[in-house]
Amino acid sequence: MTVHTMSATRTGRWRLAGVIGDAGLPEARAGAGAEWELAVDDGVITTLRPAPAAGSSPPTALVLCPPLLNGHDHGRGPGTVDAGIPDAPLEEWLETLDRPVRPRGQDELVGLAAGAMLRAGVGAAVFCVNPTGPDVVGEVRAAARAAIARGIRAAVAFPVLDAGGDRRGRRRDAPGAGRAAVDALIEDVERLAGELTAEVTGSRAAGLVDVQLGPVGPQWVAEATLARLAEHSAATGRRLHLHLLESPGQRAWADDVYPDGLLPAMDRLGLLTERTTVAHGTQLRDDELALLGERGVTLALNASSNLRLAAGVAPVARAAARVRAACLGLDGLALSDDHDGWAELRLARGLWQAQAHRRVPGTAALALATSAGRAAFGAAAPRPPAEGRLADLVLLDLSPWRHLFGHPDWPLADIAVAAAGPAHVAEVWVAGTQVHHRPEPSSAPAPRPREVPA
Ligand SMILES: [Zn+2]
Repeated sequence: MTVHTMSATRTGRWRLAGVIGDAGLPEARAGAGAEWELAVDDGVITTLRPAPAAGSSPPTALVLCPPLLNGHDHGRGPGTVDAGIPDAPLEEWLETLDRPVRPRGQDELVGLAAGAMLRAGVGAAVFCVNPTGPDVVGEVRAAARAAIARGIRAAVAFPVLDAGGDRRGRRRDAPGAGRAAVDALIEDVERLAGELTAEVTGSRAAGLVDVQLGPVGPQWVAEATLARLAEHSAATGRRLHLHLLESPGQRAWADDVYPDGLLPAMDRLGLLTERTTVAHGTQLRDDELALLGERGVTLALNASSNLRLAAGVAPVARAAARVRAACLGLDGLALSDDHDGWAELRLARGLWQAQAHRRVPGTAALALATSAGRAAFGAAAPRPPAEGRLADLVLLDLSPWRHLFGHPDWPLADIAVAAAGPAHVAEVWVAGTQVHHRPEPSSAPAPRPREVPA
């Protein structure tokens, strides 16, 4: 396996037009407005502070941002259009998901997806492995190695599905796989996590991957199994990642099978803690969102996916008001199958504004896509860029909007949230290594010769 080559760039010096998100030390941010200087030496940020007077140096349009975080994904390679899987209501769509017109292995699926995410400035992603064959351990291992090889931070969720016979959902007393089988699965997960850790210990990829337990959704996993996984999470700290109330069908199942409430039942099973991430929550009610907030659960909203799978409208405003760790995920179903975290952020902010009937500031929107989702990555979570820390950062080139710099209506975060995209991602650093550098204009095809006035 190739883990960052020795020639990987780990050192650099930049002058910045500013920092956004929760980058920089709080006391240094008081100096915002001036230019900043950034230095990375052997992977560690050694300088991140307002610069002394600019002097004769040319003005810069580079802005430092924490990497975007993709709080829920599956690593679907170039996307479901490429795989020949048309959008459809979730339950119909699931029937076609395992019959791709263009099948690929997990290494290719996750590798291609991770590469595209990094080019867009997404520095970490949760990959919930959808197995394509019987060797689940092998597929999760391949997914994790593909993420490590690309240099993205990754939470890899090991799928657990033992009562999925009826797509509409299990009975309340469905037996599931039984204690012995679940314990064996947990052993597999722990063995794999240990193996992956050993493979990267001492290398630059150490700490890039966190293996998590992935009960696919409460409607497809037996209660006893959910309780056993929650018990293991409490005992070891291993995180849980599950889908929750994604579609109207799942809402109807929950209300039918749990007339006294699905979320209180999940709470009694020990599932709702700060070690758990739930994805979607498209159909959650306010009291349910409030319970997630009280328990410190991370909620990954997936606005594009919900539209493509006819699941509903992501409750961005209601979640942001109730769940501190409400964040964003692409679910491998970005609107244009391009893993563009900026377009997703723009969509989420638009929904938030439309649902709240007010303007949402760029910093609040940016938090959805950066800081709010860090817990979902467990031991692989990036820390906010600051002096003394490994470099996990994105350098955005906001030069097309340089004329807005300093305008009172246009803080830098608002420019980024309103207009940035993969084309403006100049560099991406993950865990101290430069993992993406936008090609220099000089490497583009030579322009057609033309007359230049003397
Ligand atoms: Zn999903």
